[in-house]
Amino acid sequence: MTSCPCKYSFIDENKKLTPRRDVPSYPKYMLSQETIEALRKPTFDVWLWEPNEMLSCLEHMYHDLGLVKDFNINPITLKRWLLCIHDNYRNNPFHNFRHCFCVTQMMYSMISLCNLQEKFSQVDILILMTAAVCHDLDHPGYNNTYQINARTELAVRYNDISPLENHHCAVAFQIIAQPECNIFSNVTQEQFKQIRQGIITLILATDMARHAEILDSFKEKMDHFDYSNEEHVTCLKMVLIKCCDISNEVRPMEVAEPWVDCLLEEYFMQSDREKSEGLPVAPFMDRDKVTKPTAQIGFLKFVLIPMFETVTKLFPEVDEVMLQPLWESRDRYEELKQLDDAMKEASYTYPELSDIFQSNIKFAQKFSEE
Ligand code: 5GP
Ligand code: MN
Repeated sequence: MTSCPCKYSFIDENKKLTPRRDVPSYPKYMLSQETIEALRKPTFDVWLWEPNEMLSCLEHMYHDLGLVKDFNINPITLKRWLLCIHDNYRNNPFHNFRHCFCVTQMMYSMISLCNLQEKFSQVDILILMTAAVCHDLDHPGYNNTYQINARTELAVRYNDISPLENHHCAVAFQIIAQPECNIFSNVTQEQFKQIRQGIITLILATDMARHAEILDSFKEKMDHFDYSNEEHVTCLKMVLIKCCDISNEVRPMEVAEPWVDCLLEEYFMQSDREKSEGLPVAPFMDRDKVTKPTAQIGFLKFVLIPMFETVTKLFPEVDEVMLQPLWESRDRYEELKQLDDAMKEASYTYPELSDIFQSNIKFAQKFSEE
């Protein structure tokens, strides 16, 4: 069988699901007090850390939130579970373990910023954190549209219905099914059912094809939001994981910008492949049509800002910490787009001077960043 990175095979992947024997020995990275403080904020620099250090941070979050204590999680099982999670993310340009870390760290930041532990039960906090950790497990680097158009094994298995998200979730519970990695082994049958249902609902909610549906349903509930209404709380949790999933632009520019390069690299890998296989190509993935500014301006204006504005109505703290960076990022990318456009126009008019224009633009860009 030829190995194809985009076509998931259910046969040869069992290897990764087997937990490592060497677990407790992953170099225990002692987190400094400074790191522990920084970890609670969206300004945390997610690029500074190696996988082992990110694992220690995730471990710290489960202890710090009281999840280890409240759900009687064996601390060694927690380490083994996290290692197994790490092993089941692929080395894609974007959908990799560092993205998993970012989404979970943003969830941890929102729990802290919005005082969610005062509003939600600990079961809900466990569901939010665990869904974030697991939400892109074994992502092949090619999106649902590719899976469906190329009629991959995943699309066939899940009848074209959120094939990736269904897969991420199935892998999550295949990991939990191993006693050595089962962080839920000490909860009651009843609680397990509730946790499992909660995680499934949240991971399936990360399919962006459902974005409008979920946000509309949330807006409907906003005028009379009720924390004692289970449907309302579930909908809010869905919006929270969606916010964290696409939250790179909330981070400081130096942290956020490299993620756009990663995303475009993954998009171009897909569109190149679609071209070579004669499949339809989405314009937002086409290297001949998209640039960093155009990719981000639309996403910020029509997806990120409207969603975070809605969340701000329930949590005013979000305004300064998350919404303002989004506005700043939109403004910056709009300026960059104007520079891009000016350069394009100039190099059409004076092709022989295009090198000079290019270096002037580079200088102007650098200047605007400082
Ligand atoms: P995920 O695949 O990570 O579960 O779902 C999020 C999707 O939203 C990504 O695949 C990607 O298409 C889109 N997305 C997330 N962050 C950004 C961003 O910063 N810019 C753009 N243009 N799209 C993003
Ligand atoms: Mn994701």
